[in-house]
Amino acid sequence: MTYVLAIDIGGTKLAAALVDEEGSVSRSGTRPTPRTDVMSALAALITEVIEGGPSPKAVGIGCAGPLDLVAGTVSPVNMPSWRGFPLREEVRKLTGLPTVLAGDAQCFALGEHWLGAGRDSTSLLGIVVSTGIGGGLVIDGMPLLGPTGNAGHVGHMSIDPNGERCECGGRGCVERYSSGPNLARWALENGWSPTLEGPEDKADARVLARHAAAGDPVAVAAFERGARALAGMIASTAAAVEITTVVIGGGVSAAGKVLFDPLERILDDVAGLAFVRAVRIHQSTLGVQAALAGAARLASMAL
Ligand SMILES: [Zn+2]
Repeated sequence: MTYVLAIDIGGTKLAAALVDEEGSVSRSGTRPTPRTDVMSALAALITEVIEGGPSPKAVGIGCAGPLDLVAGTVSPVNMPSWRGFPLREEVRKLTGLPTVLAGDAQCFALGEHWLGAGRDSTSLLGIVVSTGIGGGLVIDGMPLLGPTGNAGHVGHMSIDPNGERCECGGRGCVERYSSGPNLARWALENGWSPTLEGPEDKADARVLARHAAAGDPVAVAAFERGARALAGMIASTAAAVEITTVVIGGGVSAAGKVLFDPLERILDDVAGLAFVRAVRIHQSTLGVQAALAGAARLASMAL
């Protein structure tokens, strides 16, 4: 068996695993992402996972973006201590192994394509709907990363050039309609009054999904609006690069039917051309493990 070391770096959690070419995990570990000196925490995690396990032949890293694959640097929005951080070189020095890097959502797409809900597809769009919206493309079985590694930023595709200003500086971005905080924001602005049942409850997309499932009309309308923006983006992406499959993960995908039912219905309304209409939408089956699986796949493709 040939093993690779897969690493997934996010704003709240670092994860690493030794993975074989069939996707089986022999050793793994996680730890919280510290506010400062993330590299020391990552180095300790890597040592813990590698020690006593089979020797990996390469390293694949999925990291929150934006990133620059030419320079091998990352500047994750939610990790202020890393700006232009030379992650690829630091991990290569630490492990002495060939090291490849991609965005975490690109790794999500690659993982779902390899082992998850997109296993039988040739060309797939993976979407992570959470605090923000990330995405990644696998075209004809290969990850589409782009010249600097930023391909697949579908959350910042404009579905309304006259729409609201997005935090990215653009206008009418999908994220402005369909991310968890924006679903809740629109609902609150339109008269949603969340009844909170426990100390864990907040006026967020999780409670909004519960209310939508119970038939609250504003909550239902918020998911309809979010689904319409996603459907526009999906139809545009399918028209541009011909995908057969969409896999949606991230916290908001846990809303289930209140998101996926309107999404499928509205995509049917939005899409015209036969190959766009043929796109199939699935919920992620790997969940939080998808990005790690994709990082492993990325590393094994580099061998
Ligand atoms: Zn944007």
